[in-house]
Amino acid sequence: MKYETVIGLEIHAELATETKIFCGCTTRFGGEENTHCCPVCLGMPGVLPVLNRKVVEYAVKAGLATNCKINRFSKLDRKNYFYPDLPKAYQISQYDLPLCKEGYLEIKGDFGSKRIGITRIHIEEDAGKLLHDAEDGSTLVDYNRGGVPLIEIVSEPDMRSAEEARLYAEKIKSILEYTGVSDCRMQEGSLRFDVNLSVRPEGSSGLGTRTEIKNLNSFRALVNAIENESARQVKVLESGGEVVQETRKWDDVTGKNTSLRSKEEAHDYRYFPDPDLVPVVLDEEYIDRIKRELPELPDVRSRRYVEEWGLPEYDAGVITASLPLASFFEECVKEYGGDPKAVSNWVMGELMRMLNEKGIEADGIPFPATHLAGLLRLVDDGTISGSAAKRVFTEMFETGEQPKVLVERLGLSQISDEKVLTEVIKRVMDKNPKSVEDYRSGATKAMGFLVGQTMKETRGKANPALVNKILKQLLDE
Ligand code: ADP
Ligand code: MG
Ligand code: ZN
Repeated sequence: MKYETVIGLEIHAELATETKIFCGCTTRFGGEENTHCCPVCLGMPGVLPVLNRKVVEYAVKAGLATNCKINRFSKLDRKNYFYPDLPKAYQISQYDLPLCKEGYLEIKGDFGSKRIGITRIHIEEDAGKLLHDAEDGSTLVDYNRGGVPLIEIVSEPDMRSAEEARLYAEKIKSILEYTGVSDCRMQEGSLRFDVNLSVRPEGSSGLGTRTEIKNLNSFRALVNAIENESARQVKVLESGGEVVQETRKWDDVTGKNTSLRSKEEAHDYRYFPDPDLVPVVLDEEYIDRIKRELPELPDVRSRRYVEEWGLPEYDAGVITASLPLASFFEECVKEYGGDPKAVSNWVMGELMRMLNEKGIEADGIPFPATHLAGLLRLVDDGTISGSAAKRVFTEMFETGEQPKVLVERLGLSQISDEKVLTEVIKRVMDKNPKSVEDYRSGATKAMGFLVGQTMKETRGKANPALVNKILKQLLDE
């Protein structure tokens, strides 16, 4: 029997607010342990939370950017559970009336384009962080992250493969980046994925029993965990067993996937409206204003690159997936003034290769877009060859220096002076009378050898187009 994988994602994103969701403490990442805290975010008895207005605005923005309906009346609820990273023993979240619901977004791949439903987006507070000391077995807790605002984006179980889940998660990331709702720094835990996954016989329509894998914080971990868990469930079913509804843990280092705990049901949390917080009531004008302020989103930008700049759809999709990369690309195109596809070739080729190699994100490109535009112009006007440009690019990536300066220092400028080249070529012809004769008696292949000798004479710096032109003229005389 063949099986089909069914996936729904819950994505947590830390919001880019200055201060926490219910107090004035900073949301800054890191810092000395337990210094970004106050009685409110430590959950002391008797304190009163006050909702950060910006949190609502960011969540509504995320909702509008993902085609959600905005609930005009929404509220905050207590989700009760005990865990040392949450000292007040409940998390303030949203239960039955989230800020946003019933949205969707499109993903594109080899399978064409597909719509993934978004069930809801709600706001909640983050918990602290437990630091386990492997040496003495103790655990310390840092509450700096406690009370940092989150949105949780819950999808419909609409994805059917690791590839689809990755595309969806990447799309969410770029939308949150474009709207400025979250900085999405995955290495700092600003964006975390929970995978809900079940399998079913291909062609059947009911849903199988699902498991949940929490807190994946890279696209690679997301893909690996999905492939691994899907295979595990199929194996369980094929051996006549049953999948147990549970929370599982993915270890990215060992590639192991183990059971953590049986899954709680919503009624186990004893949700109830937080009596310390008033409901959130939004009027149409407020929602309209946020809608008007939405920036150009990745899909629209991608279409613009295709329609106005003639970029292939594939290039446009890759470049617009990352806001900093798209901004870099756009600035470079404007500065360069030539064919945008030439810029795209460099961005998708050398630039992305170097970023990958060095493990640098697109917001850390070590030179300004104007440098790349300058490099392209040096190729266009014949100052350097295409292969020399690659060397300059590598050096530019390392040093951040101007391409002109580097061409000079590396001694890469091409010889494009016709007089100089004519002299060199004449010399080469004198030294190789046999080849000249061969060419003139019809063996035109001999020209290739003479071009090669000229390049050798000039240590590769002769402008090849000019060499060909001059050599042909001299040979045909
Ligand atoms: P909870 O809040 O307990 O985690 P939800 O019912 O809100 O559960 O669902 C969470 C996620 O699980 C959603 O993204 C949903 O699409 C997905 N999901 C629900 N049932 C299944 C299933 N049988 N297989 C795969 N995903 C599922
Ligand atoms: Mg869940
Ligand atoms: Zn605080």
